[in-house]
Amino acid sequence: MKNYVFYFLVGSQYLYGPEAIEQVNADAEKIAAGLNENPLIPCRVVCKPCAKTSAEVSALAAGANADENCAGVITWMHTFSPSKMWIAGLSALRKPYLHVNTQFNRDIPWETIDMDFMNLNQSAHGDREHGYIAARLRLPRKVIAGHWQAEEFARETGEWMRAAVGALESKRLRVLRISDNMRDVAVTEGDKIEAQIKLGWQVDHFGAGDIADAVDSVDSAEIDGQMEEYRRHYILDTDDIEAVKYQARLQVALNKFLVQGGFGAFHTNFQDLHGLRQLPGLAVQDLSRRGYGFAAEGDWKTAALVRVMKLMAAGKGGGTAFMEDYTYHFEPGNEMILGAHMLEVCPTLAAEKPKIQVHPLGIGGKEPPARAVFKAKAGKAIVASLVDMGNRLRLIVNDIECVEQPYDMPKLPVARVLWKPAPSLKTSAEAWILAGGAHHSALSFDLTAGQMADFAEMCGIEFLHIGEDTAIPDFRKELFYNDMAWRVNG
Ligand code: MN
Repeated sequence: MKNYVFYFLVGSQYLYGPEAIEQVNADAEKIAAGLNENPLIPCRVVCKPCAKTSAEVSALAAGANADENCAGVITWMHTFSPSKMWIAGLSALRKPYLHVNTQFNRDIPWETIDMDFMNLNQSAHGDREHGYIAARLRLPRKVIAGHWQAEEFARETGEWMRAAVGALESKRLRVLRISDNMRDVAVTEGDKIEAQIKLGWQVDHFGAGDIADAVDSVDSAEIDGQMEEYRRHYILDTDDIEAVKYQARLQVALNKFLVQGGFGAFHTNFQDLHGLRQLPGLAVQDLSRRGYGFAAEGDWKTAALVRVMKLMAAGKGGGTAFMEDYTYHFEPGNEMILGAHMLEVCPTLAAEKPKIQVHPLGIGGKEPPARAVFKAKAGKAIVASLVDMGNRLRLIVNDIECVEQPYDMPKLPVARVLWKPAPSLKTSAEAWILAGGAHHSALSFDLTAGQMADFAEMCGIEFLHIGEDTAIPDFRKELFYNDMAWRVNG
């Protein structure tokens, strides 16, 4: 995360004289240093000399655009900075934009305050002038107000930075499709050109036969190395070592394919396993643990979304995974969703050391695959789903609370998650279905709906949130209004 930088662009003007400009620069450096020392700030803040003319603003924006490590800009008006000088630079800016409405001093110095102090410390004044021009230009942006040393300010700034990192990395993401979408399924389809225009995802397909060739060329030393990895991270809970070794072989081959092609995410399709003996299960789970995005049944949108969310969450340690709503628990007052997949849930969600087991699979017609079996941890999380509405991409996020699992479910040997969606299973499910949300999602213990909203705005896609305040009548209106708005703007 520290490799990503954010330019701190501070506005002023020549009106106040050189001493004031020096003071502005000194204060801005102190704020940047303070943010960089704050553990809630994941990335590096780089303080730039304060801007006093239109040419200076344009040069700073061009620098941010050209810097491939720059994930965004943060603007702040220490003094009054006439906003006409920001029009050219902000219009050309192609990086996420955060306007912080803060102030160097926290408290007003009641005994000593005079007009010189007022003119130097007037972000309450200058940031309103700055906000106007961004509103007038209709720029996508975040505004965070508060003192820069306050915890809430740093936390919100840090969370926005992670969303911006997601937007930057999204633009570089290449997705490996192994085969096509599952036959007849609608929600996993989508416009790959639109996804590349808005999200930057380059989605390329290879046949299952290409993977099978790579699988055949894996040697026994490579398989042994992968088996060592499995023993480190999992409990080997099976006598069928040959089945596990086949997943190791699959993983080595998939890993080579992903590295050679520069892919960050991939999908499989159980209907097309030509030349493969097992559906990739454990292999997919362990690649997910190492950071790759994955989804099943040809779902390239969810695979890519999981990858972007893993990058946004880097270093947080809570876990982010491909998920699927499977079955409901309708006990009155204790309604829950059981989430799982045939095999492929990421072990970063695990509450315990996962067990490797081998069991037959009801579909696909292949040999019984090895998989990692575990119960997921408890805690606050989100599920996110990306769907194609024809004239735009829609991101839907639901706040959920994962709960502890008292039942062992011995006849269900897959990784599973149990959660209570906000505001209730009834309202959540109705809203999700009205919005067209998929059965596949990306689940994360590390990210918030607010961050996903920021990410969606940065990429120019629609965003819908289902949380504590969601009520169906209002949600239906939001769907209706959004359809109107996107008819104009989509
Ligand atoms: Mn599925």
